[in-house]
This record gives sequence, structure tokens and C-alpha cells, in this order.
Amino acid sequence: MSHILKEQYRHYNRLWFNNKLPKRHVHIRFAKMPRQRLGDYQFTDGHYYIRLNRRTRFWPPVWRATLLHEMGHVATEGFESEEHGPMWLEIMRRLLKNGAFNDLV
Ligand SMILES: [Zn+2]
Repeated sequence: MSHILKEQYRHYNRLWFNNKLPKRHVHIRFAKMPRQRLGDYQFTDGHYYIRLNRRTRFWPPVWRATLLHEMGHVATEGFESEEHGPMWLEIMRRLLKNGAFNDLV
């Protein structure tokens, strides 16, 4: 996992998630992905995988916003089956309301 992504995850975890998201078994990396995809998330064997489209690597506002989106999936893992279900939406609304996306989008 790249240092800058790990650092950003830690920062957002403290700032927006009361530091309650997992600190271990989280893997974040830039990856080659279809143009229209900004990122994705997968949970396998107790490990959290976040991929960010490497095309956005030099566009921090975009990959940071995407990271917050995917961190919402980490937060709701195991709590709801729907990908963007009510709990995930509630987290995104809370982040939006509190300015997490200011200066990003
Ligand atoms: Zn999503």
C-alpha cells in the first residue's frame, strides 16, 4: 500500500470516523481500471481492499473523494447487504453535511 494512501486513510479515519475503522488488514492502492470507474471496494477473508483508479493519481481531490466513498463501504461491511444501502447513504450524507467533501468536489 502506498504510503500516501495509508496516511490519507488514517487521517480520514480520525477526522470523520472517530478512528473506528479497521487499522489493520486494509489494503489501498492505485490500480489500472476502466476509464469510467473511480474506484472499487472488496472484502475478502477478513481483508479490506480499496482500489483507486490510477488515472486519478495526480488529481488528489478526485481520489480523496473516492477514498471517502470506499471508506463508507469499510464502515458498513457486514451491516448491510445492499452496496449503497441506507447505512452507507447515511454516512455519505453525514460526511457531506460536515464538509468532508468541501474542496474535493
Ligand atoms: Zn460504492
